Amino acid sequence: MPISLYNSLTRRAEPFAPLDPERVTMYLCGPTVYNYVHIGNARGPVVFDVLVRLLRRHYPHVVYARNITDVDDKINAAAQQQGVQIDAITNRFAQAYRDDMAGLGVAPPDIEPHATTHIAQIVTMIEALIDGGHAYAAEGHVLFDVGSFADYGKLSGRDPDELIAGARVEVAPYKRNAGDFVLWKPSTPELPGWDSPWGRGRPGWHIECSAMSAAHLGETIDIHAGGVDLLFPHHENEVAQSTCAHGGKLFARWWMHNGMLTFDGRKMSKSLGNVLLLHELLKLHPAEALRLRLLSGHYRQPLDWSEAAIQQATSTLDGWYRVLRDLADVVLPAGELPVPPRIEAALCDDLNTPQALAELSVLADAARQSGSAEAKAALLGGAALLGLLQQSPEAWFRRGDEAIDEARIEDLLEQRRVARVSRDFARADAIRDELAALGIAIEDGAQGTRWSIVKA
Ligand SMILES: [Zn+2]
Repeated sequence: MPISLYNSLTRRAEPFAPLDPERVTMYLCGPTVYNYVHIGNARGPVVFDVLVRLLRRHYPHVVYARNITDVDDKINAAAQQQGVQIDAITNRFAQAYRDDMAGLGVAPPDIEPHATTHIAQIVTMIEALIDGGHAYAAEGHVLFDVGSFADYGKLSGRDPDELIAGARVEVAPYKRNAGDFVLWKPSTPELPGWDSPWGRGRPGWHIECSAMSAAHLGETIDIHAGGVDLLFPHHENEVAQSTCAHGGKLFARWWMHNGMLTFDGRKMSKSLGNVLLLHELLKLHPAEALRLRLLSGHYRQPLDWSEAAIQQATSTLDGWYRVLRDLADVVLPAGELPVPPRIEAALCDDLNTPQALAELSVLADAARQSGSAEAKAALLGGAALLGLLQQSPEAWFRRGDEAIDEARIEDLLEQRRVARVSRDFARADAIRDELAALGIAIEDGAQGTRWSIVKA
């Protein structure tokens, strides 16, 4: 089944064909690690995790890089404020990021390059840009000369002349054009810095991705992904740097951009006080419900986030896990789980996850009605490609709530069983009420009594 992906560069969906089918390359702009990320930052990693899963089904070798930006003015500010070295901040929050991504079921990238371990490659790339007449040193800075690259603005669809004319910010006197951007900047003694031909300094953000991408994936890569908020200037600048440093070679063959999250219809921002940290949400809600919600809209569209939407996702998963729980004794066919063609077709169609989720609901209904091993395998196989239904129904319904004393519940259930056997129904009902007061619902069935947590 061919994969079709929308390409921001050509502004249309195109049949995907890698440059080298033996080595598909993909780069996703990763986090700047100075605090916990918000839920909006998780959409790209989750969406593109599904894309990588799909690509791995089609190609034997996919190399997926997601970087860590570990030198940045925000990191420097946090380190100075707390009186520590920057790596005290970056190590802590890079690990927090990995943990939060693992919580969402996002597989780790094959390569996780850090900016601070690629300073040599960054310096070499800047030198190549200067030699090629695309960059210039001025007052300890090195700037990219946007006037030297005719295609500047092509990716984001902006007119460079308008960009320059529209620049209202105060332009540094050493810039040739208002739109020129920093490749290297000087560091004062108290700031992190590295020796370079232009003095002690540190890289600009954009050049990091260009250098790390080339170092690990080559000069031309198949897919470069990120949030649509990075389209300009970050990705436009990456294109300019990489193309000019590599003799005009195409940088990324596909550019893919995920839409932003809104919160109850509004932009998520610090000033509105509605920034939701993923780290906190993972403590409050089942991680798979967060993942399902992030996949419930088409990745190119904006997605609204609300408490009601998380509850909806949770109850959808309740329904699917109920089917699996009822089929607990149905033994799966031997071998790998199949991926149902309709799920695969939806994902091959520019990663249409809402359609794939609709198909998953159909498969859950079919499994409930037929109770067959094949239907159960189809449900699990389809869900696996989306990174869903990755736990046992028991674990899902108990939600890993540490406040729940499982031994006590099992003890009460046993007392109730004994009461029922001895026909002491008043006692049995009293125990049911006691469990309900603990937020535990029970369900008597052919295979004994099951319990689940009912509180939200
Ligand atoms: Zn980047």
